[in-house]
Amino acid sequence: MSGSMKLFRLWGIDVQVHWSFLLILIYGAIIYSGGPAGPLVGALYGILVILLLFACVVLHEFGHAVTAKYFGIRVPYITLLPIGGVAQLERMPNKPLQEFLIAIAGPMVNFVLAALLAPLATLAFGLKVQSGGAAASAQSLLAQMQTPGLTGLLLYLAATNLLLGLFNLLPAFPMDGGRILRALLAMSMPYIQATRVAVAVGRFMAILFAIWGIAGGGIMLLLIAFFVYVGGQGELEMTESRYVLRDIRVKEALTPGAQALFVTDRLAKVVDLIMHTYQTDFPIFDLSNRFVGVLTRGRLVQALREFGPEARVADVMIPREQIPVARPEESLADVWDRMLEQHSRVVAVEDGGQFLGLITMEDITELIQVLGATMERAMLQEAQSPA
Ligand SMILES: [Zn+2]
Repeated sequence: MSGSMKLFRLWGIDVQVHWSFLLILIYGAIIYSGGPAGPLVGALYGILVILLLFACVVLHEFGHAVTAKYFGIRVPYITLLPIGGVAQLERMPNKPLQEFLIAIAGPMVNFVLAALLAPLATLAFGLKVQSGGAAASAQSLLAQMQTPGLTGLLLYLAATNLLLGLFNLLPAFPMDGGRILRALLAMSMPYIQATRVAVAVGRFMAILFAIWGIAGGGIMLLLIAFFVYVGGQGELEMTESRYVLRDIRVKEALTPGAQALFVTDRLAKVVDLIMHTYQTDFPIFDLSNRFVGVLTRGRLVQALREFGPEARVADVMIPREQIPVARPEESLADVWDRMLEQHSRVVAVEDGGQFLGLITMEDITELIQVLGATMERAMLQEAQSPA
């Protein structure tokens, strides 16, 4: 995510923090600076509380990440935002049970932390009561929770972990509870149907969060409502696209007669081709007709800026080793996943070492739009015709 800074790396996962996280530290400092400990000590204590709170959030995200890695899904990074953390999975798990376990692992970490912290917090509070530092009532317990000190910190972290675990279990897709709901639904209905139901429930939850936020729950709930609403929509589109691509073979999406380039060609020629054809990405061959790389429009623009139109394609192309390869019989949905995973906008289609052509992100988006529209129409007609 742009605007993020790497903090550390653990088990192959980068933990990074978004700049807006600073706002939450400032918020913590301000909240506690008005307390009995005085402005400076209070502010420092506030920062400590937020840092420890987010350490718990990091552990929660590691719960997701470690479970995902167990199922063979790479997690390149975890990002911390003011509203919580996000573990970036390179692809969605393809079995409902896997999604269920990955989603529930996060809240479980919070419940374990709460269970570990609760006895310590109770002990600390008990000692405080014994020494006459606090009354043995629920009210005094709540007051202690907001008082800077070890007892307050333990009470606060135990309670917050319990609440974090519970809050994340609310069925507000794409929050954990929403993912759990989708996984459970997907065990008895098609994945796409399960996603639609989970997203609809999530939208309803987002509206409740927004009302709760406006009614006094605070700006954080409004942000979460926004995140749930927008994120749910994004994932629904993603799932629908994947659904459309599932039954299409790679060979069906290949465009015959695409223009190829030779390593000796100059960039000026590519510019000319782009202006006179619809093609934007070109396979490159060496002089003995072997496929050696790809020149994408993005790479071309960058190379023109750096080296000018006289540069040769061989010097600026993306070499073959960096291009994902697809087989003609593969499903486009799997190929699309691989392109997203490897951040590549093209795949080379090869059969037994022989190059057949390129498939680009644009080819796929076009297919999704055309086939998606056709499919929607068919589904509508099906729904209207008497059974
Ligand atoms: Zn989570």
